Amino acid sequence: MKTVDFRSDTVTQPTTGMRDAMAAAPLGDDVFGDDPSVNALQQAVAERLGFEAALFMPTGTQSNLCALMTHCQRGDEYIVGQFAHTYRWEGGGAAVLGSIQPQPLNHQPDGSLLLSEVEASIKPDDVHFARSKLLTLENTIGGKVLPLPYLSDASALAQKHGLARHLDGARLFNAAVAAGGDPYVAAHEITQYFDSVSVCFSKGLGAPVGSVLCGSAAFIQQAKRWRKMLGGGMRQAGVLAAAAHYALDHQVARLGFDHALAQRLAAGLQGLAGVTVEAPQTNIVFVEVAGPRAAGVIDHLKARGVLATGLYKLRFVTHLDVDETAVDQAISAMREYFAG
Ligand SMILES: *Cc1c(COP(=O)(O)O)cnc(C)c1O
Repeated sequence: MKTVDFRSDTVTQPTTGMRDAMAAAPLGDDVFGDDPSVNALQQAVAERLGFEAALFMPTGTQSNLCALMTHCQRGDEYIVGQFAHTYRWEGGGAAVLGSIQPQPLNHQPDGSLLLSEVEASIKPDDVHFARSKLLTLENTIGGKVLPLPYLSDASALAQKHGLARHLDGARLFNAAVAAGGDPYVAAHEITQYFDSVSVCFSKGLGAPVGSVLCGSAAFIQQAKRWRKMLGGGMRQAGVLAAAAHYALDHQVARLGFDHALAQRLAAGLQGLAGVTVEAPQTNIVFVEVAGPRAAGVIDHLKARGVLATGLYKLRFVTHLDVDETAVDQAISAMREYFAG
């Protein structure tokens, strides 16, 4: 029995084409700015997403942290969603390492933050308060795509109050592909509303490691200082940047297959007793299991070679290394459990 891994889109292996690109990459010491492959990736991402400059990062967590530390000083605050990665899933790094206070807000069912609540949470200039400096959004958020008109309104609100705007675009290209049309154009349509954007290459894009932070030249210069301080100054990093560059050129449009697989999975799980399936917009399928049956489902799936996660809800993520057969294996294992 083959094990199929739906825990995350981070579990993928580099493709042959990607490994070839890594092997062929010209390298240099990137702390000296000498790595041609890193420089080429940074330039390509900045151009594609409409920014002056970009910076290759070892992880999305470090990329977001460098962005927050560049936008905010000690005693400043960022407004963020309760379930946003930059608040909930990064170990409190902004507070611990940046002395930046988060102002978390609840999400609407579509993943957005209510703009009236964002506005109400912006503090007046008063010695009692942290200084509200930044609005941080995430797209996709829990696999959901934030609509462009919402991004436009959120951006206008932030600008009205002098807040900077950061996008955690770990899965930006999933949102772009879901929008339809040319995915690079669609990505740019999203990023136009932000002062900085972080994109992961180690998720659905299939690279082994790496994120890229985009912003103005001055912003990236400061972020580079923080990256070095945080231990992210990498040397012959071009071997990794080449993988990300390959993904950017060859593995963006194929995210549509992952989205179709998520649809297939969701359709196959419809109608199971005690199970509520959220209609997926991209590559993540959330399944709510009612009552005591929730406890055993992960182990049951595992015994049938299907790996999933279940921290808040049962979660299946589709990616480069799963196919229709894998999806059908997951559907069968779920049906067996909920029929029994
Ligand atoms: C994965 C992810 C990140 C960054 O994670 P790393 O594992 O540090 O690369 C950031 N934001 C979101 C939304 C993510 O899904």
